[in-house]
Formats: sequence, C-alpha cells, structure tokens
Amino acid sequence: MTETATLARPADATGVEHFDVIIVGAGISGVGGAYHLTRQRPGTRFVVLDALGDFGGTWRSHTYPGIRSDSDLYTFGYRFKPWVGPPIASAAEILRYMGEVIEENDLGRHIRYGHKITHARWSSSQKLWTLEVTRSDGKILTFTTNFLWMCQGYYRQMQGYTPEWPGMGDYEGQIIHPQEWPEGLDYSGKRVVVIGSGATAATLVPAIAGDCAHVTLLQRSPTYFVPGRNENDLANTLREIQIDETWIHEIVRRKALFDQEMFTHRAVAEPDVVKAELLEGVKAFLGEDFDIEKHFTPRYRPWRQRIAFVPDGDLFQGIASGQASVVTDEIERFTPKGLLLKSGETLEADIIVTATGFNLNVLGDIAFEIDGKPLTFSDTITYRGMMFTGVPNMIWVFGYFRASWTLRADLIGDFVCRLLAHMEARGASQVSVALRPEDKDMKLGPWIDPENFNPGYLMRGLHLLPKAGDKPEWRHTQDYWAEKDALPAIDLDVAAFHYT
Ligand SMILES: Cc1cc2nc3c(=O)[nH]c(=O)nc-3n(C[C@H](O)[C@H](O)[C@H](O)COP(=O)(O)OP(=O)(O)OC[C@H]3O[C@@H](n4cnc5c(N)ncnc54)[C@H](O)[C@@H]3O)c2cc1C
Repeated sequence: MTETATLARPADATGVEHFDVIIVGAGISGVGGAYHLTRQRPGTRFVVLDALGDFGGTWRSHTYPGIRSDSDLYTFGYRFKPWVGPPIASAAEILRYMGEVIEENDLGRHIRYGHKITHARWSSSQKLWTLEVTRSDGKILTFTTNFLWMCQGYYRQMQGYTPEWPGMGDYEGQIIHPQEWPEGLDYSGKRVVVIGSGATAATLVPAIAGDCAHVTLLQRSPTYFVPGRNENDLANTLREIQIDETWIHEIVRRKALFDQEMFTHRAVAEPDVVKAELLEGVKAFLGEDFDIEKHFTPRYRPWRQRIAFVPDGDLFQGIASGQASVVTDEIERFTPKGLLLKSGETLEADIIVTATGFNLNVLGDIAFEIDGKPLTFSDTITYRGMMFTGVPNMIWVFGYFRASWTLRADLIGDFVCRLLAHMEARGASQVSVALRPEDKDMKLGPWIDPENFNPGYLMRGLHLLPKAGDKPEWRHTQDYWAEKDALPAIDLDVAAFHYT
C-alpha cells in the first residue's frame, strides 16, 4: 500500500463524508482520472475508492506466471507519463509505472483502499449520489458525492469464468483459474494442461514451459497472434541520439497508433492478405511441417477478436522446443487422470489451468438505484459508451478492445473535466443524457455488434449491458481514431444533454 493511503479519515457529525467527485477503482483508469482531476480541476474535493488493498486493478489482481500486457505500453501508458521500458510489459513493470504516477502527482492522499462500494443511490431532490461502502475491517461507511466516475473495469476481479464440464468432480489433480492463481504453486516436474486460446493462455504456457514436465495448450479453436521482438526500434534510435523521453513517448506513441490504424484498415480491406501475413509470422517459428492450418488458423477474419502480441514469439519457441505442445480439440469430459477429448484422445495432467476468460461485471457489482427504483442497466441507452440515459451525473470508463484501453481513459478524463467545468459555468448540479427528437425511431441494438467483435465474456454478458443506437453519439464505436477528434469536439449544449 502506498504510504499516504489510509483507511480512516474524519467524517462529519452524521458520519457521512461528502466529495464533489468519487472515482470508483484505482486501476489504470481511476488513477488516470485522479491525475486529470488534479491537473484540470484543481481544488475539486474527490476520493478514489477501491475494494483491493492497493492500486493497479487488473495488474494487482492477476498474479499468474508471466502476467504481462498484450498491447504496447507506449499506447497503454498514459499520454502524460513517458514509458521508458520494453513495449510489452510485465504486471510488475506496469505497477511500478503507476506507482510513479501516484507518487509524482501526490495522488496517494486521495485514494482509499479496502473500500468496497455495495450500493449507489441517486436522489434527484438532493442531486446527490449516496454510496454504501464496506471497509476491509467490516465497517459500513456512507459517502455522498455530486458525481460518480466509474473506473471499475469490466470483469469480476476475484473470480474468473470456468465452464462446467462433465466429470470435473472426478478429477484427482488441481483445477486452477489464472485469476485465482495460488501463491507459490509448485508446478515443477508436473504435467500441466492450459485450456484456452487467448492472451492469458499464450502468456502462461511459455512462462511455465521450462519448469514443468510438459505443458499442453488445449484450445477449441485457434486465435491470431503477432509474434515479434519486444523492442521498439524507433524508440531505441531516438534514445541513442539522446532525444528527451517526453518527445520519444509522443513520437513512438504516434507511430504505434499510425501503424495500428493501418493494420485495422487493412484487416477490413484485405483480410486474406493480413491473415496470410499473420500466419507467416507463426510459420517462421514453427516451420513448414507444423500443422499451422489446424492449430493457428482461426475461423474468423483478423481483428474480430483482440490480437495478442507474442513477444519474441516465446509461445512458438516453447512449442518448437518440445517443452510445450498445442492440441486443438474439444473436451468430452474430465477423467480422474486428466481429460478425454471429443476425438477420443486423452490428456493426462497433474494440474489443469482454465484460462477460459472473465465474468463480465457491469458497474462493479454495485446495486444502483435512481430515486428509489433499482437501475436495470440494460434498459438504458449509452451515450458514446460513457453516459447512460436516465442515469444522472455518472460516467463509465470503458476502453477500447482493439486499441489500448488507456487511450480512452485519457480522452474520457478530458471529457469529464470539461463537463464538470461546463456544469459549474451553467450553475447546473445535474446532467443527464436523453434521446433527441431525431433519435426517437433510432434502431437499437446490443452494446457491441457481435458481427464486429465477439469474445466469449462479452457474448455471455451482452444482455447485461446498455443498448446502443445506430448513430455514433449513441454507441461505443470502439474507434479511437474517430473519437480522438470527436470527444474533445462534443458540444455540451446540444439537445442530448439535459441540465438541472
Ligand atoms: C491479463 C490481462 C491483460 C490485459 N492486457 C491489456 C493490454 O495489454 N492492453 C489493454 O488495452 N488492455 C488490457 N487488458 C484489459 C485491462 O483490464 C484494461 O486495459 C485495464 O487494465 C482496465 O483498467 P481499469 O482501471 O479500467 O479497470 P481494472 O484494472 O479492472 O480496475 C478496476 C478497479 O476497480 C475496483 N472496483 C471494482 N468494483 C468496485 C467496487 N464495487 N468498489 C470498489 N472498488 C471496485 C477493482 O478492485 C479494481 O481495482 C488486460 C486485461 C487482463 C485481465
């Protein structure tokens, strides 16, 4: 825990503490939010509340071997704090970077750990949110705030998603979800099967391959990966000629974003060419004889799911060395010794790791009420994936799937600060969004179009998320390149915004 973090602070005579803004979550979004508030709205009384015992969110709660980012830190890092390490970073490196942001900007005094928000009630007569919070010592606290900045992420931190397979109870080995990795788990000399095909599985397999007897990646269907050196040549060159790190961050970030934009365009315009290029990258490690078609050729077009970067092709190096292997098949059932697959093949294992994804968690599992009525979030329509019809004075930071999450956390940080300034200038104590007359017949659909992006955790939880319209104002477009210009240009006096 950072030195300045504290569990107890004085409340008023009623025991209720009031803040202008409460930020929910001290992950990369919440810490970024705190930075933007102190810079752009100095004097704002605010607090960041987090259920965990320290900052970091995702990067604190995930402790499985090898845990690392799957996108580059020049764009996953904040725009205001240069990243000076390798592009793909470990959780420890990301936490160190976030810790520096907190220290350098004296944000620790605004953060309270061990504070889990369980209820949030909006009162239109008081123009206030009242939060019920359970502190880690069991005490129930009450906070009030004018504005809620939701940085609670999108999945349940403490419990991953594990499907139910027949026979799981008969299995004599250990079943572990990467999100609940036991401290000090000894896998040396053991046979491990990792079920899954996403970034987590691709990280874990090479991280443990050298230490266990053998690790098998068991996937139902393949995923695209981009293997490459964990180096940024442009950053190295700029460092060699002694360019200032602030400049390097900005230049390398722009180059990375430019490259990503080109890649995204090409993935749509010429999916077959892009697919061939991605597969060539894998072939370079595994050779012509390896069955790339079966194990590493996805059925979907590139970019429909997040594409993970594999630094130095370590996953493929592990497979090429024989320490790891990949099996593409489906599980028929668990057996006492391992797994029986649909093909009839069996896999014996001492440990089975279920890298099978997240449980989507909308609004931090907080029970929301608006004027005494429970909020059904899925009945709302989203304004640009950050505000919701019928929910006043609240913003949710939901980042990008295909670009780094933090790019959007920074953009929304500017937006919140601008909105708060606008409310102050208008003398308004409440802002909400509502469909305009021209939106009344707008076609409504799910939060995200499954044709466009369809990872399992989203498909399982899509019914819990707000609806989207067919205009950019009423959708989370997932398009950083459009939003970087659109969000700062939003006219806060247009008909969608209602002030009281
Ligand atoms: C293993 C892994 C790797 C990833 N790699 C990348 C990557 O490389 N690039 C990328 O763009 N994205 C990546 N992501 C997605 C990643 O989660 C986000 O990018 C980002 O870290 C989310 O930050 P956040 O602050 O919004 O949420 P989180 O990191 O989820 O933090 C939310 C915080 O809110 C707190 N909280 C939630 N509910 C409550 C409550 N009711 N009361 C109090 N506190 C609460 C939690 O305790 C937590 O600390 C990755 C995700 C995982 C799981």
